[in-house]
Amino acid sequence: MARYTGAVCRLCRRENQKLHLKGDRCFTGKCALDRRPAQTPGQHGKGRKKLSEYGLQLREKQKARRYYCVNESQFNKYFQMAVAKQGITGENLLRILESRLDNVVYRMGLAMSRPEARQLVNHGHFTVNGKKVNIPSYLVKAGDVVALREKSRSLTKFKDLLEANASRVVPKWIDFNKNTFETKIMNLPDRADIDFPVEEHLIVELYSK
Ligand code: SF4
Repeated sequence: MARYTGAVCRLCRRENQKLHLKGDRCFTGKCALDRRPAQTPGQHGKGRKKLSEYGLQLREKQKARRYYCVNESQFNKYFQMAVAKQGITGENLLRILESRLDNVVYRMGLAMSRPEARQLVNHGHFTVNGKKVNIPSYLVKAGDVVALREKSRSLTKFKDLLEANASRVVPKWIDFNKNTFETKIMNLPDRADIDFPVEEHLIVELYSK
C-alpha cells in the first residue's frame, strides 16, 4: 500500500489527537487541532458520531498506524510478529513500533517529527553498530548503538535540531550522548515507558475478530 502523502493535519483531526506529524508547527497555536478541535476533517465534518465497538477498535488501530507513520500491510506484519512473541500482544506491538529506526531517531531528538526522521534515515545519515542503515523500518535491539554518521555530525541542521528539541524528554530506554550523537539501546521499552495514549487492547480485539 502506498504511503499517505496528503495533508497530515487532517489525520490528527480525524483521530482527534495530536500525532505530531509536522514538527515545529505542532507545538504552536497554528496546530490545526488547537484551532478546530471538535471537528472531523472535510466539508461535513461537524461534530462526532458515537462510535460502535468496531469503530472504536478501528480508530485506535488507525491512530497507532498514523502516529508511527506505518502503512497497513506493515502494521499487519507487526501485529503478527507481536502475536508470535511471548507476553502481552498489545504491548509487544507497541514495543515493535517503538523499535523502528525512524522512531529511535525521533526519540533521540534528531528530527522534529517521525516523517522527518524517516526522511533523514532514508538519506543515509545514520548508522547502527557502525554500519550505514537507510531503512526507516529497521528494528533495533537491546545493545545496538544508533549514531549520526561521522560526516553528518558537522551539519548545522543536526545541531539546530538538537537545540530545538533540547526540552524534549529522551526516554530512559535509550542512552543518548548529545556530544557524540550516539545512542545505546539499553533495552526495548516497557509499556510505562511509551508515552503514546493509545488503548492497544482495542487493536488486539480488532484483529481477533
Ligand atoms: Fe497534528 Fe501537528 Fe498538524 Fe497539529 S500541527 S494537527 S499536531 S500534524
